[in-house]
Amino acid sequence: MEITQHLFLNLSLLIIVLFICLIILEKRQQFSLSRFGITCLFIVILWLCIQFSYNPIPSVRYDLRLIPIVLGGLYVGIGPILVVALIILRSFYGLHLGFYQTIILYLPLSIILWKLYPWFLKQVPVRRILVTVCIGMCLGVLTVIGMTFANTHANLFDAWFAYLVIPSLGIGIISYGIEFVRKINEMQQQLIKAEKLKAVEQMGAAISHEIRNPLTAASGFVQLLEDDYLSRHKRREYLSIVKEELFSAERVIQDYLTFAKPSLEQFEELNVKSELRQIINILQPLANQNSVEIITDFSVIGFIKGDGQKFRQCFVNVLKNAIESMPNGGYLSISTEFSQSYVTIKVKDTGVGMSSKQLERLGEPFYSTKGKNGTGLGMMVVYSIVRAMDGSISVESEMEKGTTFLFEFPTIPSILMNEQTGRA
Ligand code: ADP
Ligand code: MG
Repeated sequence: MEITQHLFLNLSLLIIVLFICLIILEKRQQFSLSRFGITCLFIVILWLCIQFSYNPIPSVRYDLRLIPIVLGGLYVGIGPILVVALIILRSFYGLHLGFYQTIILYLPLSIILWKLYPWFLKQVPVRRILVTVCIGMCLGVLTVIGMTFANTHANLFDAWFAYLVIPSLGIGIISYGIEFVRKINEMQQQLIKAEKLKAVEQMGAAISHEIRNPLTAASGFVQLLEDDYLSRHKRREYLSIVKEELFSAERVIQDYLTFAKPSLEQFEELNVKSELRQIINILQPLANQNSVEIITDFSVIGFIKGDGQKFRQCFVNVLKNAIESMPNGGYLSISTEFSQSYVTIKVKDTGVGMSSKQLERLGEPFYSTKGKNGTGLGMMVVYSIVRAMDGSISVESEMEKGTTFLFEFPTIPSILMNEQTGRA
């Protein structure tokens, strides 16, 4: 049973290596490898097979090298490369009978596999498994015939059993695994596609709704403006309403575009303090309306890298939410801190707060508790901008007490140096 034992050892090694690869791919959340990666993996497996082969006499080595050759040749189309690698690897173990037998058996095989590869990929999974198993069996038979000629004095019954059962079993198990991973991959791709389509559909519906409202209002006021006898005061009032409505339509489009293309177009050095001051100026009228007092504490100046317009869009959304969470007034405090590696921005409100369920859904597209007054796009955009700026967000919230948002952005080292030397 020596050959059987050795081939089982070979098979276990193969399965262990493939299993480790599967775990690594699963951790990377990506069940695919580059062609180069796969070729290297198969060559390593080939080497393992040859290293742990059975050699009853020094001139021959029996192992499961046929498994990586068949599977690599049929599933990846790298048969010829693997056979060349096999011949080179085998030559390191001596240029005897076994070496020449390898050339005689595997060189024609590499061409057959190369020709079969395009046809093979078009077959249904079950047929693919059957084809690999059959080719494995044929190679097993040829190997045992070669063994008879080599006069190795090995037990032929053992050899027939080992080479008819183990390679086909191994090839069957591994190609089943490959088909399984391919199926998961396909399903994952389909799911992503379906989700994308759904998101586009929902987004389209929500956005056309969100844009239509302000546009209808604006066109209504434009019609009123057509009245020749309208007082100058009324005319100005209507014009400002039209402007505001158009501005809100533009914001919806801006939010959508940012979500669709979160990467930053331009990177500039942003002075966090002055950017935040600008945003507060924009939002001051809204804060006054809700009797919200804005408290700022920008004790240290910080510089970060990012797109100014996106940064403002991000914090307008955050601060607007904070103000909206305090319809009966409250305090909104905004502070920044500055360390060697991070600029931290803290936004704290004394508003309605969120439950843990609501917190979990924060940032989900279309998640809003504001009914027709909310779009549920604001926080989604905030998250995508912060991610694009290599920043992070953490949120703490308590119902009826308020919410605290903590943002961290990487500091720019060059500016850090200048500031320190400037201050010294
Ligand atoms: P919208 O403001 O249009 O509802 P957002 O994406 O900006 O959409 O916010 C999603 C939801 O997150 C809000 O409806 C609200 O329930 C919750 N939320 C966000 N910020 C706060 C906050 N500071 N305090 C309480 N709830 C908040
Ligand atoms: Mg909002």
